[in-house]
Amino acid sequence: MNKLGVHAHVWEHGWTKEQATRAINNSAEVGFDFIEAPSLDPSSINPDETSKLLEQAGIGIAFSMGLGFDSDISSCDPAKEKRGKSLLLDAVSVCRDCGGKSIQGILYSGFGKYFVQPTKEGIARSAEILREVAEEAAKSDIMLGLEVVNRYETNICNTAAQGVEMCKLVGASNVKVHLDVYHMNIEESDISSAIIDSAPYLGYFHTGDSHRGYLGTGSIDLQSVFRALVKAKYAGPITFESFSSKVVGQPLEGILAIWRNLWEDGFDLATHALMYTKAQLKAAQEVERQAERSRLL
Ligand code: MN
Repeated sequence: MNKLGVHAHVWEHGWTKEQATRAINNSAEVGFDFIEAPSLDPSSINPDETSKLLEQAGIGIAFSMGLGFDSDISSCDPAKEKRGKSLLLDAVSVCRDCGGKSIQGILYSGFGKYFVQPTKEGIARSAEILREVAEEAAKSDIMLGLEVVNRYETNICNTAAQGVEMCKLVGASNVKVHLDVYHMNIEESDISSAIIDSAPYLGYFHTGDSHRGYLGTGSIDLQSVFRALVKAKYAGPITFESFSSKVVGQPLEGILAIWRNLWEDGFDLATHALMYTKAQLKAAQEVERQAERSRLL
């Protein structure tokens, strides 16, 4: 069974004690299994407070982050590599101390718009550093999910196939592909086959819609997406990610270009997303049983 999660930005843009309390309690009240907390700056998360809140609410946690251009491990600049590796290792410690089991996002490059091609050397260095971080993460049974994002947010992994290639390059069993349907809608030729083809490496999945608002109110064929996930026998976490200028603050507002108010009420948005996801998954599972049920003999 897939664990279902919700991105913290549906509730709050930061992680002070008050914000973490509201975000965690709301996620639990709606019925999610876990919350995904951004850890762009791992030092902004207090693991003691966070793990207590999670325990009280009875839900789990996952983390997501993107490296800054000054900590880009694909830059071949030793000072930036060092900062990037140390940020990733800090995130591993925070995740471990909060009882989390995964860190996702743009862990392999800067998070934002590049104006130049990636280099072979840069990709190789990124993979090497990730292998070292993965080794540390493995000690706490933590998975690293390399998020495949659109061309305006990285110059390395824009397609699921590139994500799989990067995973192979890193070559650690706890490094997986993280797919996000919002980005896939921009870059993939065929979203369903991309999901099915990358299934052996798929470790984390973000749902959302074309405008990152209410699920099912954009132009993405979500029915096919959920059918592909079930067909691929994907049993990992599925997290609903949505952004509105109502909640998002800097730096994500700027990097992700969240200029519109796509919703006002995060509670209504998240309640609908959970209901929608469960209904889509159930329908997709029933689709898989049709052939068996339709046999003549
Ligand atoms: Mn995402």
